[in-house]
Amino acid sequence: MPRVIDTGEVIGVIAGLCKKACYELSDDFVHALKDAHEKEESPYGRDTLALLIENAAYAKAEQIACCHDTGTAVVIMEIGQEVCWRGIPLGEAVDAGVRKGYDEGYLRKSMVRDPLDRVNTGDNTPCVFHPEIVAGDKVRVTVMPKGGGSENMGAFTTLVPAQGEEGVKDFVMKTVSEAGGKTCPPVIVGVGVGGTMDKCAWLSKKALLRPVGKHSPVPHYARMEDELLARINSLGIGPLGMGGRMTALAVHIEYFPCHITALPVAVNLQCHASRFASTEI
Ligand code: SF4
Repeated sequence: MPRVIDTGEVIGVIAGLCKKACYELSDDFVHALKDAHEKEESPYGRDTLALLIENAAYAKAEQIACCHDTGTAVVIMEIGQEVCWRGIPLGEAVDAGVRKGYDEGYLRKSMVRDPLDRVNTGDNTPCVFHPEIVAGDKVRVTVMPKGGGSENMGAFTTLVPAQGEEGVKDFVMKTVSEAGGKTCPPVIVGVGVGGTMDKCAWLSKKALLRPVGKHSPVPHYARMEDELLARINSLGIGPLGMGGRMTALAVHIEYFPCHITALPVAVNLQCHASRFASTEI
């Protein structure tokens, strides 16, 4: 028997997650900020990290947005294949949840209806919705508000296979160097390797959802994560670009099989407002 869920149930769930994500940074991320504060050698960098830690605590205590840019609402829904929906179309319910959450939560509305005419939709919809089918009869919902400054500095390329690991690392370093302080560091560096262009970009974003600093289970990717983190933290960009060692808190690499002729690489950068919240229906 399929489990029947009314799509109306999704609206309140997503509204709550939009607010929680924008108000409360995860414990592991705040812990990583505090760890970076301990390690930072630059006085400006240390002062900046202290402000970011205070800002995160204040936002959580007061239940207000930890950054004015409350982002594009990225909604990920892992839907058990035994779930059957009834009610309004699921995509409409998801957008209704975003609309409600951004309105009730006094969160900035940043979406424009057309990239060229630039008219604000006024309610932060449409969201970017990623439904995925998984085993079981549960639905896991994640809302990930993604700020413009860090998202704008992401990049994609397709290398030739002979460029291999060195080519991947060079592209990551080039992307982070060129981004400099525009991404509001310290950042999480999400890297996708393989797949197609669209799959690769998605891998780089999903990599940002991993607990901060948790390594890839694949030894050669875990080694690359450590090497890239050390190289990035030698660039001198520092917290908010003020100079220092703590430019990145972690590098997370996700991979997928790919075509024999291709070596796609995507980099998605996550600023210090690393926001996401999840729940299960
Ligand atoms: S990049 Fe991040 S921290 Fe900087 S303004 Fe945008 S959302 Fe806020």
